[in-house]
Amino acid sequence: MRQPLGVVAGISPFNLPAMVPLWMAPVALACGNTFVLKPSEKDPTLSVELARLLQEAGLPDGVFNVVHGDKVAVDGLLTDPRVEAVSFVGSTPIAEYVHRTASENGKRVQALGGAKNHMVVMPDADLDKVVSALMGAAYGSAGERCMAISVVVPVGPETADALRERLVEALGNLKIGPGMNDGVEMGPLVTAAHRDKVAGYVDAGVTEGAELVVDGRKTQIPEAGNGFFFGPTLFDHVTPDMRIYREEIFGPVLSLVRANSFTEALAVVNDHEFGNGTAVFTRDGNTARTFFSQVKAGMVGINIPIPVPMAFHSFGGWKRSLFGDHHVYGPEGVRFYTRNKTATTAWPTGGLAAADFTMPTLD
Ligand code: NAD
Repeated sequence: MRQPLGVVAGISPFNLPAMVPLWMAPVALACGNTFVLKPSEKDPTLSVELARLLQEAGLPDGVFNVVHGDKVAVDGLLTDPRVEAVSFVGSTPIAEYVHRTASENGKRVQALGGAKNHMVVMPDADLDKVVSALMGAAYGSAGERCMAISVVVPVGPETADALRERLVEALGNLKIGPGMNDGVEMGPLVTAAHRDKVAGYVDAGVTEGAELVVDGRKTQIPEAGNGFFFGPTLFDHVTPDMRIYREEIFGPVLSLVRANSFTEALAVVNDHEFGNGTAVFTRDGNTARTFFSQVKAGMVGINIPIPVPMAFHSFGGWKRSLFGDHHVYGPEGVRFYTRNKTATTAWPTGGLAAADFTMPTLD
């Protein structure tokens, strides 16, 4: 049978303060563990509300716990001998650190990291659908999603030129503003420091020779006071050696990388160090099957830009987007939060049997 581990911990990022803890805690609790959540120090309030709701629902005290803090709190959980397992979601350098430190301390660990998700667009794809999919996937949540598309790889110059033209038009109509306002499609970034970091990447892209087609650096939303707004940004002629291509920007910046064939586009995706999600847009079943079978990423969308698996599957990336053996939630989550126990039984009568020095067999 599979049994719970005991006390398990979850460490979550700022960008999904409800969803990420809810990838972890329900499965951990349903499997019989108690859970300690260490939310991001950038938006800790929701974790307390989750605890309050669970208490209201009748969960006994001590089963779902919240610990606030930054590295100090994380290190406490990673080294505390009472914690049996750690689930982490955040950036790749911290994921790697958490995986190493928790493993050194004898814990089971799954650490989900950063991403650079590519969408390959074949010449036969419906470009209207591609553009609306890309607008949401690249610029929704201002690009602050681990499943955001940050690289689009159109196959062939005609596809690239047509896509670029339509994207520029759509970007001109994107409604930016405070997220509480009706009709707003894209809000601000999380902090001033993050906005400046994203701007720094755009500067770097220009210096390295990418073509800045739409520049979000000057975008201002006067009615939103001092919000950390950054306008949608589009680069063309991005190449794999550029920093804006290699590193995760985590902002509303889309890079267009031109490929001459499907094989070349697939190699671009596979050569990147991250492998969280990816997508292909095509009307050809053979292309879709080949892409799914050969692409090196954990979650694949066929004409779906953000392929987050349904809850009865599990969520997780490949390569440097995940450290550890298990994806989160679904069947993988159940395996992660439980361990196997096997009973081998005998009910002898008439006293002890003689000692047996051979390997037990089934006969
Ligand atoms: P982050 O790595 O800065 O922080 C994540 C967590 O780690 C927070 O709880 C934080 O307090 C803690 N932390 C930060 N620095 C630490 C340190 N030096 N030592 C120990 N703990 C530390 O990430 P973030 O900025 O909050 O979130 C954005 C990142 O999360 C992006 O890279 C994004 O791709 C990633 N993310 C990944 C997924 C996924 O499923 N793969 C989902 C959401 C977000």
